[in-house]
Amino acid sequence: MKLTGSCLCGAVSYEVSGEPLRMAQCHCTACRKITGTGHNVQAFFNASDVAINGKTSTHQSTSDSGNTRTRHFCPNCGSRLFSENSKAPGGIGIAVGSFDDVSWFKPEVVLYVSQRPAWDRDDAAIPTREEM
Ligand SMILES: [Zn+2]
Ligand SMILES: [Zn+2]
Repeated sequence: MKLTGSCLCGAVSYEVSGEPLRMAQCHCTACRKITGTGHNVQAFFNASDVAINGKTSTHQSTSDSGNTRTRHFCPNCGSRLFSENSKAPGGIGIAVGSFDDVSWFKPEVVLYVSQRPAWDRDDAAIPTREEM
């Protein structure tokens, strides 16, 4: 699989060659805070399969299980891009919305549903529009 992506402003871009090891959606409080939405979707790859162009800023926090999470974002536009976990060295999580083509993504697991906001699911009663 050959995939490309970038932040919103284009200062940071990347190329992935290789299959995702894992694809997940997460509703934990940290994911809600960092995304500003009800959940986070990430695909995890071998870091050696990912070539990054441009420089990111990082923020570190400690996960529920005591591991260090390092999250990378564009210092110019603030887009979230990558995450690393001290538990899984050599791996990299990529924010799925940053890929140029997102059609291949299919979450294999949904995590922290206990913290999922009631509004963060499809509701047929709410009107939808094809565009704004
Ligand atoms: Zn940017
Ligand atoms: Zn999470």
